[in-house]
Amino acid sequence: MRIHAVRTGFVQIKRSQQLGVGHGLARRVRPFLDPTWTEWLPTLAWVIEHPEGVIVVDTGSASGDAHLRSWHPYHRFDVRFQVGPQDELGPHLRALGIEARDVANVVLTHLHMDHGAGLPHLAGRPTLVHEGELRAAHGLAGRLQGYLPGQWGPAFRPHALTWTDARFGPFDRTAPITQAGDVLAIPTPGHTPHHVSVVVRGDVDILLAGDASYTQDALLTGQVDGVSPDEGQARATLARIRVLAHERPLVYLPTHDPDSAARLLGKTVVPQ
Ligand SMILES: [Zn+2]
Repeated sequence: MRIHAVRTGFVQIKRSQQLGVGHGLARRVRPFLDPTWTEWLPTLAWVIEHPEGVIVVDTGSASGDAHLRSWHPYHRFDVRFQVGPQDELGPHLRALGIEARDVANVVLTHLHMDHGAGLPHLAGRPTLVHEGELRAAHGLAGRLQGYLPGQWGPAFRPHALTWTDARFGPFDRTAPITQAGDVLAIPTPGHTPHHVSVVVRGDVDILLAGDASYTQDALLTGQVDGVSPDEGQARATLARIRVLAHERPLVYLPTHDPDSAARLLGKTVVPQ
């Protein structure tokens, strides 16, 4: 099994989104008042070459994101993208010799725009999403939260992840992605209430963490971001991932961590 980190361009967010400041409503308002931007952060997608077929975890950004015209204050004031057509998922898959039809499953950690914008490159492929995330993203409530269903394309075929009581470390529910059971989703709520991460089992386990935190440092310090609706839930998830990393060697790979790609190559585990 090979895992590729695919960089679908870069994103800048406010520092106080990357690492939340304060608590309660103040934490969530802060990014709008914060004049300081992060450096350009990668937006990664993951391609797993598995004997049962290719699995793509998150689909990254699309070049349209850079010119998005949106009324939503988050899109207008709090995020900037640098994405060209060649940065999108499709060209990366072609460079790896992978056709859309080779993709057995797409798994989305959540439906924020920089995770789902590459979906049109995998039109019609079965796409696994947490049922609650699908519900949250639709309708007016979804739009108010900044979800952009229009970008997923008309051939978006979402299927709800199927949860089982099979445990994985401190996680009491898992959703198998492969028959072999060596790729599975775990619930990592916080950044969104139904956010999931994907585990690839191996000599060391790889955790494709989506936005469970923006960096490994934030995992280690237990610092919640500036957008998670429920700070306690997000903090509990980070604590659970740290327990997991204590039980077994674990490589932790957030979507926007500048060091994720290098940690994947070096199989660099979470330090204890
Ligand atoms: Zn997100």
